[in-house]
Amino acid sequence: MFYEDLSEYDYQDEDAFVDRESGFRALWYRPAYTRLNVGWLEAGRPYPTGTVPTVFLEKLKAVQEVQWMNVCLGVHECGLCPEGEAPEGNGEVRIPGGPGLAYAAPFLITHYIAVHGYRPPQAFVDAVLAVDLDAWASARWPDVPFPWVPDDAERMLE
Ligand SMILES: [Zn+2]
Repeated sequence: MFYEDLSEYDYQDEDAFVDRESGFRALWYRPAYTRLNVGWLEAGRPYPTGTVPTVFLEKLKAVQEVQWMNVCLGVHECGLCPEGEAPEGNGEVRIPGGPGLAYAAPFLITHYIAVHGYRPPQAFVDAVLAVDLDAWASARWPDVPFPWVPDDAERMLE
């Protein structure tokens, strides 16, 4: 799948977050915020390259340790690596942007940055650096590590 950076995300109608402790409790909703694509790379499609601050990449990896979302949609293999050596990624990442905007990135984005030199938009870098990681890491069900879950989100309990 290839999407231009900062184009509007329309891959899935709903955003779904899984409770990482139980592994199966989940909530989902139709977002009121606009989702912008970041980091949906594909072989044969040019993409922006450049260095990023180490602190940014480390923080994005840390976010992926605590946030687990849209994981049931199948595994994506990196299309830029040689066949047989490509890592797989499952799920996506949501990062709040400005008011009413969230960035929607595939799980493999950290691999694209670290291994393939991908340089995401500066607005995304800033948004990741602005994440309150301590708050996200301490979120416990029925809260999830993302601040914009509406009160009427549907929840699947055990
Ligand atoms: Zn790769």
